[in-house]
Amino acid sequence: MTAQGIHHITAIASDPKRNFDFYTKILGLRFIKKTVNFDDPGTYHFYFADRVGTPGTVLTFFPHPGLPQGRAGLGQAVEIVFAIPKTAFSFWLDRFHQKGIVYQGPEERFDEKILRISDPDGLQLEFVGVDDLPETPAWTTDEIAEDVAIRGFHSVALWVKEIERTENLLTEYFGFKAVGVDGSRHRYSTGQSGLGQIVDIRHLPGIWRGGNGAGTIHHVAFRVGDDEEQKTIREKLADKGVNITPVVERDYFRSLYFREPSGILFEIATDGPGFAIDEPVERLGQALMLPARYEPHRKEIAAALPSLDDA
Ligand code: ZN
Repeated sequence: MTAQGIHHITAIASDPKRNFDFYTKILGLRFIKKTVNFDDPGTYHFYFADRVGTPGTVLTFFPHPGLPQGRAGLGQAVEIVFAIPKTAFSFWLDRFHQKGIVYQGPEERFDEKILRISDPDGLQLEFVGVDDLPETPAWTTDEIAEDVAIRGFHSVALWVKEIERTENLLTEYFGFKAVGVDGSRHRYSTGQSGLGQIVDIRHLPGIWRGGNGAGTIHHVAFRVGDDEEQKTIREKLADKGVNITPVVERDYFRSLYFREPSGILFEIATDGPGFAIDEPVERLGQALMLPARYEPHRKEIAAALPSLDDA
């Protein structure tokens, strides 16, 4: 069986330290990689995930200090939905209350209970209680034990004007099947167990287009098992006339990029080699990791990046 589902989601933030603190201290995700934007080494690229960086748990950010907020709208992936144990729902409700984080819900969708918050940049995050979570290496903190920890992605929602062509892409090339409709949400699932196996397409004709900026999603990456599978899907998409990049080396995975028919940037990423390629699992995220081409400039690059230490 081929790997399917969401590999990672990448969003844009403003203040790096605030982003780092929110995802590690409030949400309790593991900071698994501190690196730079490979295409812009003057800025960070942060990776948050479970203990080892399992595909389907990886949320990454490009933080740009002082960047104005963007606007959620058509042509974007908008809501990120995290899977938590069903029994952890009240823990998170209490936690948001205690930490002074404004939340909405609980509300029901597809017979599931949802809690909704925004991150410090306005990125829309939702939490859904799931019964049968896969056995994945959850990350724990002093305040967040394993039985309540965020496990990874439940789903992501794409906001579009017309669903048909986006639906065709998901079902023809990415192994998703239509499984239901609830209001504006058309749900697609790979039917596989594991995290990140659901995508909702929200049919929202008549609303505004999204604008890039802090608090918006930059792209959604889908999984392929290996290079061979990636090559096959690239050929299929290119044959269809899709304007798709060559394979790009991202050190932790290899990637292709293209815009789906509604304008949302999609990536196709290999599961390997993974995040332990340049530092051991026990020390993930502790040191600044750079791709080989930037190593000669480590001193200047590191000096220009803002500190994440507590003052
Ligand atoms: Zn990516």
